[in-house]
Amino acid sequence: MRRLLILPALLAAVASAAGCAGPSETASPAHPAAAAPTLVLVSLDGFRWDYLDRDVEAPTLRWIAGGVRAQRLVPVFPSKTFPNHYSLVTGLYPQAHGIVGNTMRDPERLVDGQPARFSLSNREAIADGRWWGGEPIWVTAERQGVPAGTVFWPGSETAIGGVRPGRWLPYDGEMPYAARVDTALAWLDAPDPPRLVTLYFEAVDDAGHRYGPDAPEVDAAIARVDSVLARLVDGLRQRGRLDQTDLVVVSDHGMAALSPDRVVLLDDALDLAVDDVDWGETVGVWPGPGRDADAVVARISALPHLTAYRKEDLPARLHYADSPRIPPVVVLADEGWMASSRAYVARNPDRPSGGGHGWDNRFPSMHGIFLARGPAFQTGARPDSLQAVDVYGIVAGVLGLRPAPNAGDASAAGQVLR
Ligand code: AMP
Ligand code: ZN
Ligand code: ZN
Repeated sequence: MRRLLILPALLAAVASAAGCAGPSETASPAHPAAAAPTLVLVSLDGFRWDYLDRDVEAPTLRWIAGGVRAQRLVPVFPSKTFPNHYSLVTGLYPQAHGIVGNTMRDPERLVDGQPARFSLSNREAIADGRWWGGEPIWVTAERQGVPAGTVFWPGSETAIGGVRPGRWLPYDGEMPYAARVDTALAWLDAPDPPRLVTLYFEAVDDAGHRYGPDAPEVDAAIARVDSVLARLVDGLRQRGRLDQTDLVVVSDHGMAALSPDRVVLLDDALDLAVDDVDWGETVGVWPGPGRDADAVVARISALPHLTAYRKEDLPARLHYADSPRIPPVVVLADEGWMASSRAYVARNPDRPSGGGHGWDNRFPSMHGIFLARGPAFQTGARPDSLQAVDVYGIVAGVLGLRPAPNAGDASAAGQVLR
């Protein structure tokens, strides 16, 4: 298997060194393994594992699922966008790659005497390579002579290990979806086309947050991302590239309904003037100076629907302890429950509403999708479950790349690849 996968990479290197036409033009469709494979990795943010089972207009997603459809893609904990996108492309758990949350602080790096801060709206932090560890797949690819292009992916806007994707764009949530696809297709038309391309679409996550996972607006968002995938598939077909392209469609997590009736107040368990709280579906607590973390843990755990841990005592299956950026106390909430404060609830009596994610990754509602179709993938494969950290090794295998050390299961590729 390994030798077969490396062969196309060698052929491509020879072809491009000789200045020939792109390897795809020389490929024989009868022998797809002889073509230099191109892989397009698409993220549909917040696309829950079971959304495709709904009565929803999604012909292109169903066509891709005719190749491989894992029953579920289990996200890493916490089931948030940035930790998971970066685990998908590094094969590492957040404690190893450093993106332990959408919002983080780094007590080991002070800025004006305060821990450095990271959040999704902080463009400067997102473009600061010091937050991003491990080796994302586009770095693995570029280092081994396989050009990469990213139409958005967390981590793609900075040099990591001194390497950037050869082509990339700064994240712009307002960029029309058709333009994202057309940008990727234009790159593939260039003389030195990328052989690894990423695309990212946020509509399904947006609708899930705003209206909740069961809302008709989520169905509409699924149909919308499906139609943009149809544009991608049509564009590849028109270029004669469809048969040499492996499409991989993943999501970073699922979605569960929130309710103002499922809130637990932390005011009496903490001193909110002293203890610092990272609010969310999973809560982080940085106990204030002189405060006893064990006492904090005991008081929070005495509340219904919440279980607090010192991070080193979290269940090992969460792989969430070994980073100074992980808060000393981590609070797991029951599925659909949220911790809050009296002040917040007084200001926002109708919240939380809609949907959320970020809970323990053992909840099925947090599980995402893995779909794949193309010459490298089996047809009609239905593996039970894959892990987010398996995706890096699978993509590296398709592209004939030597993977960096990672936490993926080496047997995952065998479940999905020809
Ligand atoms: P979450 O809060 O975990 O639901 O995050 C989803 C949000 O992440 C999306 O709605 C985007 O606004 C944001 N996002 C996704 N990718 C990026 C990126 N590459 N850079 C900045 N923000 C992003
Ligand atoms: Zn997300
Ligand atoms: Zn989200």
